[in-house]
Amino acid sequence: MPDYQAPLRDLRFVMDEMLDYPAHYARLPAGEEASPDVVAAILEEGARFAREVLLPLNQSGDQEGCRLEGGEVKAPQGFKAAYAQYVEGGWPSLAADPEHGGQGLPHSLAMVLNEMICATNLAWGMYPGLSHGAADALRHHGTDEQKATYLTKLVEGTWTGTMCLTEPHCGTDLGLIKTRALPTEGGAYAITGTKIFISAGEHDLAENIVHLVLAKLPDAPEGSKGISLFVVPKFLPDADGNPGERNGVVCGSLEHKMGIHGNATCVMNFDGAKGFLVGAPNKGLACMFTMMNAARIGVGIQGLGLAEASFQNALAYARDRLQMRALSGPKAPEKAADPIIVHPDVRRMLLTQKAFAEGGRMLVLYTAQMIDIVEHGSDAAEQERAETLLGLLTPIVKAFLTEVGFEATNEGVQVFGGHGFIQEWGMEQLVRDARITRLYEGTTGIQALDLLGRKVLMSQGESLKVFTKEIHKFCQAEEGNRALAEFVRPLAKLNAEWGELTMGIGMKAMADREEVGAASVDYLMYSGYVTLAYLFARAARQAQATLAEGSEDAAFYRGKLNTARFYFERLLPRTRTHKQAIEAGAESLMAMSAEDFGRGFEL
Ligand SMILES: Cc1cc2nc3c(=O)[nH]c(=O)nc-3n(C[C@H](O)[C@H](O)[C@H](O)COP(=O)(O)OP(=O)(O)OC[C@H]3O[C@@H](n4cnc5c(N)ncnc54)[C@H](O)[C@@H]3O)c2cc1C
Repeated sequence: MPDYQAPLRDLRFVMDEMLDYPAHYARLPAGEEASPDVVAAILEEGARFAREVLLPLNQSGDQEGCRLEGGEVKAPQGFKAAYAQYVEGGWPSLAADPEHGGQGLPHSLAMVLNEMICATNLAWGMYPGLSHGAADALRHHGTDEQKATYLTKLVEGTWTGTMCLTEPHCGTDLGLIKTRALPTEGGAYAITGTKIFISAGEHDLAENIVHLVLAKLPDAPEGSKGISLFVVPKFLPDADGNPGERNGVVCGSLEHKMGIHGNATCVMNFDGAKGFLVGAPNKGLACMFTMMNAARIGVGIQGLGLAEASFQNALAYARDRLQMRALSGPKAPEKAADPIIVHPDVRRMLLTQKAFAEGGRMLVLYTAQMIDIVEHGSDAAEQERAETLLGLLTPIVKAFLTEVGFEATNEGVQVFGGHGFIQEWGMEQLVRDARITRLYEGTTGIQALDLLGRKVLMSQGESLKVFTKEIHKFCQAEEGNRALAEFVRPLAKLNAEWGELTMGIGMKAMADREEVGAASVDYLMYSGYVTLAYLFARAARQAQATLAEGSEDAAFYRGKLNTARFYFERLLPRTRTHKQAIEAGAESLMAMSAEDFGRGFEL
């Protein structure tokens, strides 16, 4: 069975040393509670919960899967008890508003816990995974009555939330949805339609499930301008706010799928189910975006968690597995062969995983500070800046971290050789589980369009400039630091190039809109690599400074420097390929007709 130790040392490095979380928390009104002792206790207890409670259920949950019995879904054995412990431990309420029973801690702390959950049991983590977003959507857009009815339950975790968008004929294009909402007496609505792929749509972990459902009112305008949001509980709350009458929403079937077998992916049939409008009529998509943005960051963290889990196990295996001798002569002459970690190619794979996990952690924790400031900051200008950065970084966190997270889990299988392909070791499960992260919450292609089209080009490049300016300032400040030149020089060049590339696409797009779609995924990956380069350069600066002062933990800092060097030498050059692909433009992509694609065969 795979093992996992929460990367507490690295978390402390990023939080305390590199991004100065103690000062960040001290500046937040909600940060007072996040004293160093509280943070330490949360990290350690979260690590224990993930390793001792969730990890042992990961493989068994994958093998057992979920069962649908008489309309009720049974999660794999142990999942319900683990969820009860999670609720009892107060974990769901960590970062929620005290007004609704939350502990009011900064959101960044919940994100750290989330990494540990995703690393140890992604399928389990998806049961509570959408509750925070559902609560957030209701907090921002719900009526006082809706808040009073649902928020405390979602916050304490006795009820969980879902997000019901997808229908058989529409996933990306929500303007096509067919689910209908008919006004009924007392201001409620009758919701009718079929939603598919609904994560945790039905299960036995919580006493009630709160569905947030997109549907159309009878007189709604066509397309995405005519979508409204409804809250539809599985059990209608009674006069005391407890689960009462069963509502007309049932799980019709469970999807059989490639990974996350322990999570119930449900077809949900709404048959005149009683629902309540959230926010204004026809403004549902905007309300849902509150939930979707939180969920997108959450999925990026899934990519990070799985990369870390795969790396840790591949590393342990590579230290242990004996095959062949090192090219430069035996490294373990007393043994029958050398451990495979001596081989450069195995190191390449391990370092790729390590760089993506550590780089991903820096990106998530950097973004988490923006979320904290947006949610709790007291300076309007600072909040506006954080909001711009958060908007820019959200598609990068979602898509880049899931793309490279998937690559990292794939390399994990490769380090294990044939054993990686065998179920027993658990490495193939990580690949299967990671695969969905590139798809749901908007595919990589859709995140890329969001980044390049909506966030960057629609703001005339202004949002990008906020970030590149910060990178520029860092490079300028470190210009004279010769020890850091190997990082700062290439970073400064790339940072300037990022702006030029963007302008180039913008110019081409004026003549042909397809240029945006043609460039988008390469642009997103390019952006992700440059973003991580900035963060690795900062990490390297920190490591060098600490080493210069003399540290008892010098090996950790040398390792950090080496990983940064590996990243710059061996992963960052991928920007060259992405740049070239971007500059190639749309022509070869768009030249063939759909029919010409299939010349020589007909299906
Ligand atoms: C396990 C699982 C759990 C899920 N959980 C939920 C959930 O809880 N709630 C929920 O509502 N949904 C959920 N989904 C649905 C998921 O979000 C969608 O599958 C996803 O958004 C993609 O939609 P689609 O499958 O319809 O693909 P399509 O929209 O049909 O896309 C197919 C391909 O075309 C590309 N494409 C489409 N339009 C464009 C465009 N304009 N430009 C470029 N490329 C484009 C896409 O990138 C993709 O590669 C889940 C799905 C799975 C498999």
